Amino acid sequence: MITRMSHLFVRTLRDDPADAEVPSHRWLVRAGYIRRVAPGIYSWLPLGLRVLHNVERIVREEMDAIGAQEVHFPALLPREPYEATNRWTEYGPNVFRLKDRKGADMLLGPTHEEMFTLMVKDLYSSYKDLPLSLYQIQTKYRDEARPRAGILRGREFVMKDSYSFDIDDAGLEVSYQLHRRAYIRIFERLGLEYVIVKADAGAMGGSASEEFLAVAENGEDTFVRSPGGYAANVEAVTVPAPEPLPVGGAPAAHVEDTPDSPTIETLVALINDRFPRDDRPWTAADTLKNVVFVLRHPDGRREPLAIGLPGDREVDVKRLESAVSPAEVEPFTDADFQANPGLVKGYIGPAALGTTSASGVRYLCDPRVVAGTRWVTGANEPGRHVLDLVCGRDFDPDGVIDVAEVREGDPAPDGSGPLTLARGIEMGHIFQLGRKYADALGLQVLDQSGRLVTVTMGSYGVGVSRAVAAVAESTADEKGLAWPRELAPFDLTVLATGKDPAVFEAAEKLATELDEAGLSVLLDDRKASPGVKFTDAELLGMPTTVVVGRGLADGVVEVRDRRSGLSENVPVADALARLIATVRG
Ligand code: ATP
Ligand code: MG
Repeated sequence: MITRMSHLFVRTLRDDPADAEVPSHRWLVRAGYIRRVAPGIYSWLPLGLRVLHNVERIVREEMDAIGAQEVHFPALLPREPYEATNRWTEYGPNVFRLKDRKGADMLLGPTHEEMFTLMVKDLYSSYKDLPLSLYQIQTKYRDEARPRAGILRGREFVMKDSYSFDIDDAGLEVSYQLHRRAYIRIFERLGLEYVIVKADAGAMGGSASEEFLAVAENGEDTFVRSPGGYAANVEAVTVPAPEPLPVGGAPAAHVEDTPDSPTIETLVALINDRFPRDDRPWTAADTLKNVVFVLRHPDGRREPLAIGLPGDREVDVKRLESAVSPAEVEPFTDADFQANPGLVKGYIGPAALGTTSASGVRYLCDPRVVAGTRWVTGANEPGRHVLDLVCGRDFDPDGVIDVAEVREGDPAPDGSGPLTLARGIEMGHIFQLGRKYADALGLQVLDQSGRLVTVTMGSYGVGVSRAVAAVAESTADEKGLAWPRELAPFDLTVLATGKDPAVFEAAEKLATELDEAGLSVLLDDRKASPGVKFTDAELLGMPTTVVVGRGLADGVVEVRDRRSGLSENVPVADALARLIATVRG
């Protein structure tokens, strides 16, 4: 059936929506694909829904191809399974919670490990039933702290989630690799430029985990790569600790007045002037900066946390958030300083920190702060610093925290060369969960020798609605959307220009023939000016537009390629065959 612009439920907009931060958001709204209902919550209009369904089709085909079976779970779920794995608490404010009329706690599922585990436990009991992979394409709910960029980070979004069940680690490895290959095919077909990076397993627990990131300047994730093939989300980069140094040798620690040195730079200049080292000048990397935060734990408890790191680096808040998850990071406020009078703002030093100190504030240090390293740091008095303070001799942190910014040129942790940084959008995530959920929920089966063993699981997600935005983000230009063939809502736009009834008849005829040949056609039959129609065709972004207009008198139609911008006159008699060939590739 031909879809007619005169009937299609769409209104294109000439102006950007006020809240649009990124091109995909701007164009999807302006082209009438999605409409905002509330922050992070969007409705799908006919055009948008067709793209979403195309993504779903690709994902289904590739999941089916690895033998995964499709199921569908409710979004509205009871509390108990999430209680058993502690995620009712751990998810904290990120989960939408509600009560039924009897007062029972319910939630809107943010992800479904628990439900799949219980379903398999209900129905399966033997190693003979395994391996098993199940998936669903389903709506998820997360009360994201920062919903953003339209459907890129929604509070309601569509995810493909799958779960594998195996009797042993070798089986899990096979299921994981199958998913990995399916994901490669999915992201190839979506036409995304992507990278596979080592990921932080975060709140999911478990061990091996990788992310598929679409390379995009507007992405929220930062990843690193080395010439030798190391690739990781910056959250997953682990800085190797240097060998400890002998603690002797350095002069005894001494507190000095350091007036007018509010910044690391002014401090370094001052100490080089007044307290020069024998061996080399002091640098910012010799200063130990102590930064305080507050962790809000899922149970609501607030805990101050001090982080010590070399003064030439900042704390990377995303790395910190990932390291302390499920706790959330909040600023250390003036009220917190008042409550901790031992901490002197701007001059916090190790002597005032640590669980055994008077302040009792937990003190974690960067991996570079190993025993024997010698530091210039705050003396816990306004205008004073302590020099030659040696880790392991003069202070002992409570532990290590690896959350300093990773910089361009830093060595890759595996020695494979200097790192480069780039940004991306997380499109997919594959985890070897292991036995965490099966243990918590008692998923066991009988093995070959009749013993009960705990099943080992993998969990795998694709952001289906996010993919619509990510593809739009990577393909849109200054005129609007420009879909790759597999995702476009329609194969072609047939556009009739002018007022001549013969033109409209010819357009109608060509559209009908294309439709009968099995192509999906959007016919712009509106009584609008050619300018409006051309602008809309470019905004809506079908890969090919056929213009039936003045050329008809000379027996030609114009075929325009949206992405290259190239156009060509084609004899009417050849148009059908040519267009079929173009679309079928
Ligand atoms: P992020 O780090 O972006 O918050 P996540 O690590 O929480 O994502 P997973 O739990 O791994 O995400 O979910 C699997 C996939 O679902 C992600 O790779 C992403 O593509 C998609 N996804 C996650 N959160 C959202 C969201 N708020 N809106 C749209 N898609 C999302
Ligand atoms: Mg993830």
